[in-house]
Amino acid sequence: MDDFETQMRQALDILKKARHLVALTGAGISTRSGIPDFRSPESGLWDRYDPMEVATLAAFKQTPQAFYDWIRPLAQKTLAAQPNAAHLALAQLEQFGPLQAVITQNIDGLHTRAGSKTIYEVHGHLREATCMHCLQIYQTDEVMVDYLADGRIPRCPGCGGLLKPNIILFGEILPITVLNRAKRHVHQCDVMIVAGSSLEVAPAGDLPMLAKYAGARLIIVNFAETHLDYLADVVIHADVVDVLPELAASFVPNHL
Ligand SMILES: [Zn+2]
Repeated sequence: MDDFETQMRQALDILKKARHLVALTGAGISTRSGIPDFRSPESGLWDRYDPMEVATLAAFKQTPQAFYDWIRPLAQKTLAAQPNAAHLALAQLEQFGPLQAVITQNIDGLHTRAGSKTIYEVHGHLREATCMHCLQIYQTDEVMVDYLADGRIPRCPGCGGLLKPNIILFGEILPITVLNRAKRHVHQCDVMIVAGSSLEVAPAGDLPMLAKYAGARLIIVNFAETHLDYLADVVIHADVVDVLPELAASFVPNHL
């Protein structure tokens, strides 16, 4: 296996030739921002509740308090979190380099806050919530203050209906427009970089394969092995925070 320096050089060679780079990010890019991977049993979010039981659409409608109790620690951490060097590096790769789109499985909104412009949040995001009754959309930080403080279920200020965060629950259909736009980039890209995703969750897990079959080169940066490592042109098993800033640095003009 190649050493880290060799892998970094190979990755940089590929990025330097890229014309249409797409990044696919997952929970691993936000762990250094203090956000636990809620799909991981080690996150602590499975201790009291099984997400498969409380975080489905049916369960949400039936027992919203259980859902809101479950997601509260994650919501608190997410709303308090700051983008890290890896998020910023992707924003730089878009501003100064070949990056055309970020496709993310994350709901934390940290790519937006880091300055990325073209972002496809295929699992939704926590910035907004929608009233299940009148369908009015609200900014989360405006309607969830009491909930975050004491756990009371957030209600629509207009009609009193149940508010649902604009995230995709388990078993819920993904936002098709967002997904289709993301897939267009995947078809068009000549390089895809996977950053901090174990690629286990569909459909994000299928996108690198789609890119590869369309002729793109593939770089995977993830702490642990993924089942698509064998497909990649370069695999770097390291924390994205230790990789992306170094890769982005060579695209940033010197005076910045
Ligand atoms: Zn309402």
